[in-house]
Amino acid sequence: MIIALRPGTEKKLVDQVVTEVKKLGYQPHPILGEVQTVIAAIGDERSHASLEALATWPQVEAVLPVQRRYKLVAQEGRKTATVVKAHGVAIGGNEPFCLMAGPCSVESEDQLLTTARAVKKAGATFLRGGAFKPRTSPYEFQGLGEKGLELLALAKKETGLGIVTEVLSEAHVDKVAAVADILQIGARNSQNFSLLKAAAASGRPVLLKRGLSMKVEEWLLAAEYVMSSGNGQVILCERGIRTFETAVRNTLDLGAVALAKRESHLPVLVDPSQAAGRADLVIALSRAAAAVGADGLLVEVHPNPAEAKSDGQQQLDLKGIQKLAEEVLPFVKAAGRAG
Ligand code: PEP
Ligand code: MN
Repeated sequence: MIIALRPGTEKKLVDQVVTEVKKLGYQPHPILGEVQTVIAAIGDERSHASLEALATWPQVEAVLPVQRRYKLVAQEGRKTATVVKAHGVAIGGNEPFCLMAGPCSVESEDQLLTTARAVKKAGATFLRGGAFKPRTSPYEFQGLGEKGLELLALAKKETGLGIVTEVLSEAHVDKVAAVADILQIGARNSQNFSLLKAAAASGRPVLLKRGLSMKVEEWLLAAEYVMSSGNGQVILCERGIRTFETAVRNTLDLGAVALAKRESHLPVLVDPSQAAGRADLVIALSRAAAAVGADGLLVEVHPNPAEAKSDGQQQLDLKGIQKLAEEVLPFVKAAGRAG
């Protein structure tokens, strides 16, 4: 930590801060500038008492952290990228671009299996589909719940695709983990720390969406919750954030994708569907995601989007996912990886 003192602070008051820094278990190194004194406090910021309270002292201008707050997620000090393995598929590092696709919600056997076959044909290795749905209104379709999980298990058996599905509550972690190869933590739950810990404890890889108004640091710290709970198999997923723009459902933050790839060693996926909120933009956003270096996509697909029980306007139809796979491929290759 760096403690910057106010310009012109007299020596007696500098010494008070130095004494306090020592008392808190850090080694203080005062640096006397012509105008201002700063004190470098050396010590592990994670295991020592926090110096932040010093910011309330009248002679202190600011207390600034030097180390990253996420240690396990940080790329710093790591030689290789994390490759998440689920259902025999490797995601991240130099592994092929990963396509996860399927309906927003699991609605029926016919809907799910028809979609599963089509996304497999398009090259997807995972079927996505919500059994437990986080809906803004309690009057909207909440998902089929356990029946939805049974249908996902059936689709997996039929097609051999891995399963990605959302876990909404700690109470459902075991049931969801019994069927899912990857547990999705949704944008609305990405700072639900007890759910993150419970999902981590399942031992399944965790796909962590970025929250609607989450800073990149907060997103990485949420991933740190999973990793510090003993589960290193974390996939980050950017799905757009809330901004002043209302023409798209969310603003896809590709800068955050590039930054997360640089700051962490974890695979980063993009969900262009929740970002765009409209099907006609999904392919363009997918190409951009591939070009910026994302490790894969999570895309919504429905056999008949007009009749979908959730997010109909943003779901691709079965031809659409085939087109997406074809049109994204050149961008995946341009980014230097296999499709
Ligand atoms: C979803 O994937 O259907 C979903 C609800 O996503 P998010 O949590 O990103 O809104
Ligand atoms: Mn959705």
